[in-house]
Amino acid sequence: MPTSTTLNQSLLCWFSEQQRDLPWRHTYEPYQVWISEIMLQQTQMDRVTVFFRRWMDAFPDLATLANSSEQSVLKSWEGLGYYSRARNILKCAKVLLKEHQGKIPASRKQLLALPGIGPYTAGAIASIAYNRDVPVVDANIERIFARLLNIDLIPGTPEAKKLFWKKAGELLPRGEARNFNQALMELGALVCRPKNPNCPICPVAEHCLALKYDIIQERPTAKKSKTVIPIDMATGILHHNGLLFIQQRLADDVWGSLWEFPGGRIKKNEQPEQTVIREFLEETELRVEVESKITTTIHHYTRYKVTLHCYLVKLAQSGNAPVLHAAQDFSWLPFEDLRNFAFPAGHRKLINFIKASGFNFHQPSCKPD
Ligand code: SF4
Repeated sequence: MPTSTTLNQSLLCWFSEQQRDLPWRHTYEPYQVWISEIMLQQTQMDRVTVFFRRWMDAFPDLATLANSSEQSVLKSWEGLGYYSRARNILKCAKVLLKEHQGKIPASRKQLLALPGIGPYTAGAIASIAYNRDVPVVDANIERIFARLLNIDLIPGTPEAKKLFWKKAGELLPRGEARNFNQALMELGALVCRPKNPNCPICPVAEHCLALKYDIIQERPTAKKSKTVIPIDMATGILHHNGLLFIQQRLADDVWGSLWEFPGGRIKKNEQPEQTVIREFLEETELRVEVESKITTTIHHYTRYKVTLHCYLVKLAQSGNAPVLHAAQDFSWLPFEDLRNFAFPAGHRKLINFIKASGFNFHQPSCKPD
């Protein structure tokens, strides 16, 4: 096998010619690198660039972010999912302002001590923002190493993690971390893709052991497939005098501090309509009646397939104020104002459906389906 020097040179040369023009690559400003790296976890690049520009308009620098409300941060994050990332960004910004004079540290050790920053993000900030000689390993890089070096280990296992990080450190050319680490990520995104790697244009093809042995389809070694867990839920959109009822989830809950229509899991032997009535009573002490079905949406969260049955409901007894048992706040508001609140993806999908169907809450007889 040719030396790692020639491999690195081929990769760096390819990156200098083929890298994509991404907004944070113009200045490598640490704040921008940090935000882009958090957004890129679990999200496609084309979506991230849109969200990134929007984010920088809303929170152009770390001080602005640190002094912003959690609601405005969650609203800007809406659509990216995994909301703990957004909450950690805000927590981290506050710590940076208070303890680091508003600067993002360059040291991997200091970065690792910050909220929401793990080994990958610490390596990415240290190397990409500051060009420190710190390796990074993400799923792209694991896949490249598994193929390039013919590593027969299941990614994600402790043994594989240890070896991938070791290889990343060994291959890293000193003084070139910013470009080298990004070159590996770019190669994984553009050429050595999970399916159909484009080996004929690969800059490191001559070094690739999986190509040499014709075992690309077997690298990386497949994980055991995870079973998809179906979950059936029901929710109710309560309307009264043209206003809709929403509640804000508890801060430490799943989707903490996001807004929602009350509802929950359908119990055994329970009809979805009964679930809605029960959940309203348990969560808000409001007695409601189901008027009609609005729709059923399906949404996938990691391993879960959530089927959400949605109903239009009205108050069975008027005059009672809600007493919250599963939320920190509530609001009555017109449909158009829902756009100002951050909702979990399943409920946002529901809102978009209602908007597209032209449903009018002033005339509940105009039902979507
Ligand atoms: S030759 Fe093919 S499998 Fe090997 S690193 Fe390049 S793209 Fe990936």
